[in-house]
This record gives sequence, C-alpha cells and structure tokens, in this order.
Amino acid sequence: MADDALLTDRQLRGWLRCRRRAWLDRHGDPAIPRWNPHRELQLVDRERRLAPWPASARGDRRSAGERLAAGPEAVRQLLLRRDHWRGRPTLLLRRPGASRLGPFGFVPVLLQPGRHGTREHRLTLAFWGRLLEPALGRSPGEGLLLDDRGGRERVRLDGSLQPQLDQALERLRRDRDLTEPPDLTSDRRKCVLCRWRSACDRVAEAEGHLSQVSGIGGKRREQLQGLGIVDRAALAATDGPWLMDRLEQQGERRPELALELIAQARCQELGHADHLDPADPLPELTEAPGVLIYDIESDPDAREDFLHGFLVLPRGPDGRLVDPAAGRYLPLLTLKEQGEARGWQRLQGRLARHQGWPVLHYGETEAIALRRLAQRQGSPGPAGLIDLHQRLRRHWRLPVDSYGLKAVAGWRGFRWSQPAAEGARCVLWWRRWRQRGDRRDLQRIFRYNHDDCLATWAVAQWLLGDDSSSPPSSG
Ligand code: SF4
Repeated sequence: MADDALLTDRQLRGWLRCRRRAWLDRHGDPAIPRWNPHRELQLVDRERRLAPWPASARGDRRSAGERLAAGPEAVRQLLLRRDHWRGRPTLLLRRPGASRLGPFGFVPVLLQPGRHGTREHRLTLAFWGRLLEPALGRSPGEGLLLDDRGGRERVRLDGSLQPQLDQALERLRRDRDLTEPPDLTSDRRKCVLCRWRSACDRVAEAEGHLSQVSGIGGKRREQLQGLGIVDRAALAATDGPWLMDRLEQQGERRPELALELIAQARCQELGHADHLDPADPLPELTEAPGVLIYDIESDPDAREDFLHGFLVLPRGPDGRLVDPAAGRYLPLLTLKEQGEARGWQRLQGRLARHQGWPVLHYGETEAIALRRLAQRQGSPGPAGLIDLHQRLRRHWRLPVDSYGLKAVAGWRGFRWSQPAAEGARCVLWWRRWRQRGDRRDLQRIFRYNHDDCLATWAVAQWLLGDDSSSPPSSG
C-alpha cells in the first residue's frame, strides 16, 4: 500500500490540535529534534495510569484479532489496521455483548490529560471505534474517557461523531497535500507540547505574528484580526483611542487594555525597553545586609514542591553584594516521606539564619507555596519576600514576547548551563531520581535550580542598573 494513503491516529490527533503540525509531521525537516520533555512527561504519566491493567507478554506474535478473540479483560496499545488506517488505542476494555469475537466485545479508552474531554479526545475515540469494527463485526457503540482523577465519561461513538470524523479525515487529507504549511495555530499555548515549537517560534517572530506580542492569546488575536489588525506591526501602528472604542463596543470590560497592547507591540517592533517608573525598583536592597535569591522546583501532577533553592549573596567588606559566582547555593530537598512539618522546620531555619534579608523570587509561585505551607503548619507567613517579576512589570516594558524568567533573562543574555533546560525536563529528572536514585539526576536538578537563581539575580542587577551591558532603552 502506498505510504501516501496511510492515515494514523497520531496524525489525526496532531491535526486536531494544529493543522500546521500535521503538515510538518509529513513534510517538515526530519533533522529537527523530536524530543520534547512535555511529551516525555505525558508518556511517563500514561504508563503510570495504565499500570492497573497488565501489559501483554513480550514477543506475543498473535494477530490483533487473535489477541482480542482470547477475551482478555483489557488490552494495552494494540495495533489495529483497517484498510489504509492505523491506530493504537491506549486501552481496550472487554464489555459483555455479542460480537464476531464471542459473547463479548471491546470499547476503546482514552486517558485524557486533564479533567475535561475535548473534541480531539472524542474524535480519536471515534477513530479507534472504526478501527475496531472489523474485529467486532459491529460498532463498539461507545468509548470511555478517563480523567486524571479516575473519573469516567462515556462517549457515544455513533450519531453525530461519525460525520464529524469523516469531515475531519477528509480535511486532514487535503491539508497534508498542501504545498505550503497551514498557518500557525491561533492558540499558541498548544505549542508547548509540540516538537516543532522552536521552528514555529522563528516563523512567528519573522512574520510578526500577533501571538508574539506578550499578552495576546488565541481569542484576542482573532478579535484583533476581525478588526483588520493582522500582525504586530499593524498593531503597533494602530490608533489607541480607536482600538479602545472598538473593544468597548465588543463588550471589553477593560478597553484601556488596547493602549497596553499597542505599547507592547511598539516596544517589540522597535526592540527598545520602555522605562515606565524611574523610582528605585528595589529599595529594600539598599541597606540590607545581604539578599537571598529563592526558587522552587515542583512536580505539578504530584502537587509536590520538592526543592527549595537559595542563592546567598551577603554584602562584602566593600559594601557591595558579593558577585553571584561567589555566592553560596543552598538546595533544600523536601521529601514527602520526611513529612511536611520537618520540611517547614528546615525552611524556617534557613530563613532565620538570614533574618532581615530580602528574599527575591521571580513570579508568584514561591510566595504562594510558602504562605500555604506556613498556613498549614499554623505559622505566620515568612517576611521579606519580593516578587521581582511584579517589580519589573511595574517599572519596565520590555521587547520580549513573554515576561517569564526564561524570556526576560534570555533577553539580558543569560544562558542556562544545561542545554534545553526547562521546568518539564527538571520534573523528568526528579521522577527518574525518585525511581532509580541516580545522583547525577539530582545534580542536574540542583544545577538547573541554581541557574534559575542566577538568572533571577541577573534580571535584578539589570533592574538596579548594575548591569554594564544594558540594552538600549527609550526611558
Ligand atoms: S509549534 Fe504550534 S504552530 Fe507549530 S506545529 Fe506545533 S502546535 Fe502548530
């Protein structure tokens, strides 16, 4: 069979997430790395959630039909074929009801990542249902969506899903045959999970895609496009009062947002930082005996803050804060099995040894985590926390597409010492260390967290005007 005709569940899911992705999977440069830590985390999570159902024996050479006819309670990731379609349903569960196999049949099961099933999930189930039909001699009738807390949603596979699936498959086929890739997806949050992300980021930047303007998501982009503002340059050239009027007419509760978006677009187009407030952004540091830079690493699925990292920067005899390269990095692991009370005690001890020092962190995660922890332990919240991200936003507008630490410190020229370092990768190292206990994984985590602290300080230094390599500013 010609490979061109082959259609798989992976292609369908990729297309349902982003039309461009299906095209790139077929025509894109195969040299672009496939690995994505978020995808890897999903696979690890899938294995964990599949654990209650036994995996098939290695080297099982029976055909799909033979394996199903044996009537096991569950079958994991069985390759099903039907004409030029292929797919591996995550799970097939046996159900009573006559079929070609005997007095039972199977229904396909999809493990959805969150709590809400989406169109992508339902159409994937419908596709798996079609792949099952030849073995059953009938439709499976329904499929199941299992959420990450054990909840189940039954999805009728007959009825309106069938024409929707036909339409989706037809459009997927057409899109794959285009000579140019379809547009970038309007909701760029999806890109986090995609292996084409860096290639698409470059295209978005070159095209001045509206999604590259910090503060513009999928819906806002569609709204602006509806008003004839097609890209970042057009937004930068838009008249503020005109856009405020239009947004107000469309029910926007904060029409003045228009001015912020235009100013951000202009800032990025010009590549200049705008100084918004000339006051001292960090007055707490002026007389402080030293500064603690603080960064947490968490496993969001396990709801576990496993590492509290501190970079200690005392004031030297010359009255200046020591160079960050000479600052001590102190990682504090808080393991669940040691109990939260003990973790809190150790954290308090660390903070108490530097009483009166400001604690700089980037973003609200650290402050929220510490306050909640203190509350659970019946203690007052720790003093001296300063959210550097908040101060930065109050004092500066930057030519960056995101005000996250990676983007801002990266704009300042800061580089993480490990390639492709990001939070998802750190979670992978953490889970691997918990499984295998390899110390190298722990060292990677510490290095990553130490780099986050250094990056935070690099941003603070720039904010304080201590950074001699400051980029041009319009302030
Ligand atoms: S990175 Fe985003 S726009 Fe590009 S293919 Fe992936 S999901 Fe689509």
